[in-house]
Amino acid sequence: MPVNNPFLQPHNIIENLPIATALFEGIEMKLVSVNEAMLKLWGREKSITGSRLLDFMPELKEQKFPGLLKEVYETGNPHYEYDAAVYIQVEGALKEIFMDYTYNALKDSSGNIYGILVTALDVTERILSKKKLQESEQNFRNLVLHAPVAMCVLKGPRLQVEIANERIFELWGKKPEEVTHKPIFEGLPEAREQGLEEILQHVYTTGNRFIADERPVNLLRNGKIETTYINFVYEALYETDEKITGVMAVAVEVTDQVEARHKVEEAEERARLAIEAADVGTFDLNLESHEMITSARLDTIFGIEEPADHRDYVAKVHPEDKSVREKAHAEALKTGKLFYEVRLLTDNNSIKWVRAEGKVHYVSSKPSRMLGTMTDITSEKNIRQQKDDFIGIASHELKTPMTSLKASLQLLTRNLKNELTPAAAALLNQSNSSLAKLGNLIEDLLNVTRINEGQLSIHKTKLNVAKLTNGCCNHIKSTGFDIIYEGDLDLQIYADMLRIEQVLINMLNNAVKYAPNSKTIVVKAEKLPGFVKISVIDRGPGIPTDKIPHIFERYYQADNKGVQFAGLGLGLYISAQIINRHGGKIGVGSEPGKGSTFWFTIPEE
Ligand code: ADP
Repeated sequence: MPVNNPFLQPHNIIENLPIATALFEGIEMKLVSVNEAMLKLWGREKSITGSRLLDFMPELKEQKFPGLLKEVYETGNPHYEYDAAVYIQVEGALKEIFMDYTYNALKDSSGNIYGILVTALDVTERILSKKKLQESEQNFRNLVLHAPVAMCVLKGPRLQVEIANERIFELWGKKPEEVTHKPIFEGLPEAREQGLEEILQHVYTTGNRFIADERPVNLLRNGKIETTYINFVYEALYETDEKITGVMAVAVEVTDQVEARHKVEEAEERARLAIEAADVGTFDLNLESHEMITSARLDTIFGIEEPADHRDYVAKVHPEDKSVREKAHAEALKTGKLFYEVRLLTDNNSIKWVRAEGKVHYVSSKPSRMLGTMTDITSEKNIRQQKDDFIGIASHELKTPMTSLKASLQLLTRNLKNELTPAAAALLNQSNSSLAKLGNLIEDLLNVTRINEGQLSIHKTKLNVAKLTNGCCNHIKSTGFDIIYEGDLDLQIYADMLRIEQVLINMLNNAVKYAPNSKTIVVKAEKLPGFVKISVIDRGPGIPTDKIPHIFERYYQADNKGVQFAGLGLGLYISAQIINRHGGKIGVGSEPGKGSTFWFTIPEE
């Protein structure tokens, strides 16, 4: 029995130690002495003194401690461990506690081991709070890594990239290894000198949040510097003691949206400049409430100074032209497009012409707004009038000498027929054909004058389509073109033979002039309810789609590069007027590169 053990004699030494201490004896680990601190840690009463460890703490059986104690008892080597997890039975449940502990073998005077001194320190609280901290750090890290927006955490005064998610790498145009654990502006040198260093430092030192809205930032992406637009927040991160430890950045790239908006703004600006340059007024009419927003230029054109109602603008239209406007509006609601030209009443009784052009906007297929422009076309109209006046006089004056020239040439041809040298005969022939062309031009001009003056006379009779086509198509054959007839040529129309011939000849001549490689021209007659439709189809170059709407306008010519004797751009205009006077319709369908189909309809009766 050991007698010289310093702990055995004065039990009270153990009892008074501030650290949890217990003394076990023998290989069976009989508890001989234990202090309050240890009993508290175990959750046991003093009465366990004298019993064996596994008797009063059977829950240790499955744990490593009995084995370790045995080892220390047998080898004499001390054992210690920090932060060890121990499961202790407390009030019917196993409780996890953490301890720093030591096992020291006790020897008697002859060096034999007779017991083990156990000391322990309860570190549960420290471990749990450390675990909690780790957990919350992990949660935070996960939050950043899996955030649906670009996020990163920059730590320390050098703002080192600590955590960063996939989205922010994409935004930076960098691989994780290029930036992670590096000061941000070292990993991302292209972001320097754009004011961001100062902002980040300011957030880091003051803790004041910084919010950027659509800030342009130049970044190196796909091998080149790109200007990106970014919404972002820099938020200071604090340690528990209120000390700033870093900055968190949350960013959303809005480059596409900003660029799309810039494009719209630029387009608006271009449209505004174009409108200003063209001296055009604009309007936006609400078709339900009849509220109208107008530009300053439009008000000037209308001579309106005060804010006015839609009706005030309408009231300015010349009474004789009101129906033109109303018809155009009704048409616009059907077709979506507005076009008309009317005179306006002015304060000084002068005549002012305006052209309205617009488009209808629909909401769930109901017309909701009409947007458009108004142009002052007074001087255009005046110039056209002057041109028409001049053409009227000139063509009239040309007609008399032309007629006598024609008579002289005819006389010459008839009388000298047999005496002319072949060269002189050819020259005379050429003169005759040039004179015929000149005659056609003058006739066109006179027709325009007649149309303008409302004097285009129409004498209708019952006509057979075959008779009409025969009269027109013969001369085409001499040009080397083949005419193919399709459909029913036996149909009857009620029309002015000479005028309709003029229309058909113009279409055929155009096919020869503008589709020289076509070689065949199809003339087709079809019966429609109450009408006969006649079409002239060529396989020529066709007409560009954007030119088609204007093709029947006066003096309009599409692209006539390389065309000899292109004419004056009056043929189709006159044709349209003639067909109009017959109550028919005229039109063209054309596919560039494939050919054109000019057609018109004439009533049967
Ligand atoms: P003009 O022949 O005197 O120029 P038109 O009014 O007969 O006048 O024709 C107007 C324009 O339409 C022509 O200048 C030409 O550009 C185009 N055009 C007419 N017919 C054809 C056609 N068959 N193929 C291609 N373009 C045509």
